[in-house]
Amino acid sequence: MTIPRVVLKPKRAQPFYGRHPWVFAGAVAAVTGTPADGAEVELHSGAGHFIARGLFNSQSKIRVRLYSWTPEQLLDREFFKSRLETAIRLRYDVLKLGDPSGACRLVFSEADGLSGMTVDRYADWLTVQFTSLALAQRREMFGELLTELLQPKGIYLRTERGIGKLEGLELHDGLLCGAEPDGLIAIEENGLRLLVNLREGQKTGYYLDQRDNRQAVAKLAAGRRVLDAFCYSGGFALHAAKAGAAEVLGLDASAAALELARDNAKANGLERIEFTEADVFEELTRLQALGRQFDLIVLDPPKFARARHAVPEALRGYRRLQTPALKMLPPDGILVMCCCSGLITFDMIEDLLAQVAAEARRDLQVLERRGSAADHPVSVYCRESGYLKCLICRVV
Ligand code: SAH
Repeated sequence: MTIPRVVLKPKRAQPFYGRHPWVFAGAVAAVTGTPADGAEVELHSGAGHFIARGLFNSQSKIRVRLYSWTPEQLLDREFFKSRLETAIRLRYDVLKLGDPSGACRLVFSEADGLSGMTVDRYADWLTVQFTSLALAQRREMFGELLTELLQPKGIYLRTERGIGKLEGLELHDGLLCGAEPDGLIAIEENGLRLLVNLREGQKTGYYLDQRDNRQAVAKLAAGRRVLDAFCYSGGFALHAAKAGAAEVLGLDASAAALELARDNAKANGLERIEFTEADVFEELTRLQALGRQFDLIVLDPPKFARARHAVPEALRGYRRLQTPALKMLPPDGILVMCCCSGLITFDMIEDLLAQVAAEARRDLQVLERRGSAADHPVSVYCRESGYLKCLICRVV
């Protein structure tokens, strides 16, 4: 069987010798053979040299996703099993995130050499999310491999909004293997018991990437009046309350998320914590006009910039959050600014903070520049896998 070849345009091979996994349609000169969508292909330079092996999709701007740079390595079941094992070893053996009642990301797409697939573990359950047609086609195989390697009670498929269109992928949320998770799953994070709705919750149920940042914030929270803006199911707010915050207010626009947040507070016996349904932009302005003060404010908005052209508007959004937040923080107040748009850099956020602080005639020091927890690693070949920024700042 000859494997179809995707041949690059002249001078377009460098990123792929550099092991970047995304071959965009614009770099492709020709395709030999007629690979079906999802089929294995070889990537060749314009000069005819083998570069890598990948999976083809004529319907995606990412025409080929690359997985192996070894000529003789077929992208078969054994190959994917070995990739899964390598990913799982990081979380269990290296990072010691195997606590049976815990939760962690087990596979993080490009960062684990599995472009287009993430797997999260919530106690005995797994959620799988595909963002590539080719891997989604192999979902039965991945279900079997994950069952063999981890013996979960069940594996639930979650789909990301908009991805169907990008990849030509018809996929729906539903059970992939094992038992259907009924109701809410309880997980433990940093000593807190948290409820997760892995069938309907945002993302795959919970924002696992902020685990270590929540702990970092908890260390600063004792005795403080804390505002957790964009609190979802209460991650930062609950950590602050448990660490002895004087009072905690969580804000979110999602009633379902707040219901979970309140249940989480109850499950952990936390009082002095309140959750309010509100638009954060409006509520910050209102609270500031009322003269409210907080000693620690977390701003963890959703992704504002999905494409490069949206970056200026996104930065204006961050400014509209930072300006009232700064006004509500007394001297020695802590501002925690998170940003999950990969297109926005630490530099951009710090430039913005400098402008906002100067306008308010305040000093602002960055105490910590943090990223995601280590179970969301960054591939050196695909720096796009590092998207989360969490800046912990002190306002003087
Ligand atoms: N801090 C959370 C994750 C936040 S995700 C954690 O640690 O788990 C972003 C949240 O912002 C979502 O819960 C979403 O419902 C909420 N959201 C989005 N736009 C909003 C708005 N304008 N006002 C209030 N909440 C909003």
